[in-house]
Amino acid sequence: MSDTENRPTNFIRQIIDADLASGKHESIQTRFPPEPNGYLHIGHAKSICLNFGLAQDYNGLCNLRFDDTNPEKEDINYVNSIQKDVKWLGFEWAGDIHYSSDYFDQLHGFAVELIEKGLAYVCFLNGEETREYRGTLNKPGKNSPYRDTTVEENLTHFAKMKNGDYPEGKCSLRAKIDMTSSFMCLRDPIIYRIKFAEHHQTGDKWCIYPMYDFTHCLSDAIEGITHSVCTLEFQDNRRLYDWVIDNVSIETKPHQYEFSRLNLEYTLMSKRKLLNLVEENLVNGWDDPRMPTISAFRRRGYTPASLREFSKRIGVTKMENTIEMGVLEACIREDLNDNAPRAMAVLDPIKLVIENYPQDQTEQLTVKNHPSDEEQGTRIVPFSRELYIEAEDFREEANKKYKRLVIDKAVRLRGAYVVTATRCDKDTDGKVTTVYCNYNSETLGKNPTDGTKPKGVIHWVSAADALDAEVRLYDRLFTVPNPAAEEDFHTVMNPESLIVIENAKVEPSLVDAKPEAAFQFERQGYFCLDNKDLREGKLVFNRTVGLRDTWAKIGK
Ligand code: ATP
Ligand code: MG
Repeated sequence: MSDTENRPTNFIRQIIDADLASGKHESIQTRFPPEPNGYLHIGHAKSICLNFGLAQDYNGLCNLRFDDTNPEKEDINYVNSIQKDVKWLGFEWAGDIHYSSDYFDQLHGFAVELIEKGLAYVCFLNGEETREYRGTLNKPGKNSPYRDTTVEENLTHFAKMKNGDYPEGKCSLRAKIDMTSSFMCLRDPIIYRIKFAEHHQTGDKWCIYPMYDFTHCLSDAIEGITHSVCTLEFQDNRRLYDWVIDNVSIETKPHQYEFSRLNLEYTLMSKRKLLNLVEENLVNGWDDPRMPTISAFRRRGYTPASLREFSKRIGVTKMENTIEMGVLEACIREDLNDNAPRAMAVLDPIKLVIENYPQDQTEQLTVKNHPSDEEQGTRIVPFSRELYIEAEDFREEANKKYKRLVIDKAVRLRGAYVVTATRCDKDTDGKVTTVYCNYNSETLGKNPTDGTKPKGVIHWVSAADALDAEVRLYDRLFTVPNPAAEEDFHTVMNPESLIVIENAKVEPSLVDAKPEAAFQFERQGYFCLDNKDLREGKLVFNRTVGLRDTWAKIGK
């Protein structure tokens, strides 16, 4: 990672600085703990950059741990995609990958310890009764009739749960804490439930699975995590986190710190809702470039550096907020403006015929790949009598503000000659199909000698040499800034979130384009070759982002 990515400062770093200064910890260890029940999204990228970034900057370690306590919702495909995304973002986890399921034996031992200490009991209330006994925020709960079962009986029941002697839902293991606590999570939370489910890591070894709140803190402790960083919705659960750690025999005492989650305008950040979009075919899979997933941003042409930069810019606080899409787009635009080579592509082609250019001649023009970065070198672009230009770059008549091609006016063809339009052909609908012009052969790389200066520059491709391309223009997936607030997000989906241009014409050098590597298509925006739909004889390009911020205007 480059040195230019300066260290940010935030409250978590201040805590770490203090812990290192006081000698509370000699070094730090963090973790990124996804549940493998979906693809990672840009919110997870924030958490990844934070956790791995802390480890990097403090010479500590960061684990990748799959929090895999819900076998029915999890899948090995998600396990794989998550690893790929973390690596792609530029991070390396310490040692092997960890799974909470690696600790199922130990966790079971801790549960038995709690039972032996009289701090956990097997409860046979059914779901409805359990809810009723729990009370509400305004009403204390009441004790379960099974709360005072003897240790021996509880051990027997728990062993039976483990052996598969009880059906799902029959009973659960609960921590004995406080049914009157103002923290709902302390009202005798369930710590083990019965699930006859095959697990992607442990197979059919278990039919009881530990709950997240019991598993997470102990997994942190087992791994020697010093600073367990998570999002604010776990603030109350910290009481339970600490209770579990304090009541079992484990040396290390990790501490949990919460920060506010990333919300981004015009998109959704809940894995459940993103899964809906995928399952209902409202998008083309988790990596559809309109999705807010890391793999979608990658497919769309975002770079790892741009997502890391975004995480840095949004910062880490405890304040709930929603980030404008423009902030994210600025990060990728700045990166690609500096680093993406230029190329010419005509998205809505019409013919331009240079009548005074020799019939069978083709010139191989040398053009710069980047206007200011010499190191990016040059490439060859063929120029010939028949070209394609953008339909919107020609008008028969126009006022002075229109600095493109107009009959009897001159314009420069990017990297080539100055041409003056003479006339045009139209189809029966009045749409221009071919424009005729003359070129000034003295103007390659210099202005006309008669002192006139063309007003504008337009892009072009040689008709005989151009490659056919499909170009996909993406827009926001939703029409409102906060679709999560809608009762039904289906009602606010943007019907124009994807526009497919089937017959674009691009310069021949793009035959060597690599998937995901972005180009600036001159005057159009940033585009990259799609990493999935690689078809014989047809290049497919995704628009990463436009040249300017069009979001600023939206909503105003
Ligand atoms: P769900 O979307 O189902 O609520 P989740 O987003 O919490 O799940 P996890 O796999 O549990 O998914 O998340 C892994 C880590 O990423 C957690 O530590 C979580 O706090 C963090 N995280 C998740 N969403 C965001 C977000 N929007 N911003 C920052 N961090 C996030
Ligand atoms: Mg979660």
